Amino acid sequence: MTRPRLMIPGPIEFADEVLAAMGQPSPGHVDPTFIPVFGRALQDLRTVFQAGEGYQPFILAGSGTLAMDSTIANLVEPGDRVLVIDTGYFSQRMADVCRRYGAVVDVLSAAPGETIGAGQVAGQLASADYDLVAVTHVDTSTGVLTDVAGIAQAAKAADALVVVDGVCSAGGEEVRQQDWGVDVFLTASQKALGAPPGLALFVASPAALAKWESRQAPVASYYSDWGLWLPVMQAYEASRPAYFATPAVNLVMALAVSLRQILAEGLEVVFARHRYVSDAFKTGVSSLGLGQVPTHPDHAAHTLTCARYPAGVGVELLPKVRAAGAILAGGLHPAIRNEYFRIGHMGIVGRSDTLATLGALEAGLRAAGYAVEPGIALAAAQAVLDPVRG
Ligand code: PMP
Repeated sequence: MTRPRLMIPGPIEFADEVLAAMGQPSPGHVDPTFIPVFGRALQDLRTVFQAGEGYQPFILAGSGTLAMDSTIANLVEPGDRVLVIDTGYFSQRMADVCRRYGAVVDVLSAAPGETIGAGQVAGQLASADYDLVAVTHVDTSTGVLTDVAGIAQAAKAADALVVVDGVCSAGGEEVRQQDWGVDVFLTASQKALGAPPGLALFVASPAALAKWESRQAPVASYYSDWGLWLPVMQAYEASRPAYFATPAVNLVMALAVSLRQILAEGLEVVFARHRYVSDAFKTGVSSLGLGQVPTHPDHAAHTLTCARYPAGVGVELLPKVRAAGAILAGGLHPAIRNEYFRIGHMGIVGRSDTLATLGALEAGLRAAGYAVEPGIALAAAQAVLDPVRG
């Protein structure tokens, strides 16, 4: 690859077959060739989230923030009590969205790099009558992975709906929407699901649909209203054309390809690949003497690595790494923004991406004046990757 690899936490490097779908002539949205593609994408989304019958997938033109907006606009009524589990930047956004739709929001906040456990959530749930609990599965600003299964169990016991922001997890981290009791699992196309940016994706449980159906207040957002989208999603899945607003046809075609690739590889294999690639990155970064933002490996995500700059090095590192072949992202959490950088490793990422990126990081660090023995991170990563390759 002559251009630098895009190794940020989304958008990511996309498969050639996915990009080829983007480049096809656009069919009409009610074209007989498009209807089954949309229908299959909806079904495959439900399968990838490990949700069953009665769970309703939605695919809207928009980004992950629209998936948050649509979920909350439809599930929250003015005066509802929401508990937001705050592990960083995107949990704060979720709290803002909930407030915008009239919720009374309590926020349980973790320090940057820490997570919040199910026990702590259960304690908070005992203190008030919450209607909804919102969790960020992987917080892209800290690289923290939160225990969705445990928190959802606590929320169910307290009779609250569970909304999970899986924008930086779906397609990379283990997700079991139905087994875990998640009412809306939401994401976007551009991360581990492996299609270009532009689609808001979510799957709603029967309980979420029931809550929406029993609303007293109308949904305050027009475009986000499930009442306008539900018949469209149901029609496409039943192989019938429907229209409310024009779908992003090429993006849907691209997503259909990437979802098929994920299912062909096998969900468990995909999760395992994300785990060992993540281990290789984290081992490589540690071998260079760099710390990480998550305070314990047990709650570090497998879709990205948030590495701390070594002493004497700062944001000037990133253009140097780019010149050596890999595009990385800067910090995002406002409290520590200039202390760390982020490496995304999700989607079709594998051995060669890992080694090329760590090689570029070594070169960038050297160019920034940090002494690095050439190849040290590559050796560390290969020690993780080689046994896997078997
Ligand atoms: N939630 C999380 C966890 C994210 O990582 C992002 C995007 N980085 C969003 C929400 C917002 O998604 P988008 O930028 O696609 O609107």
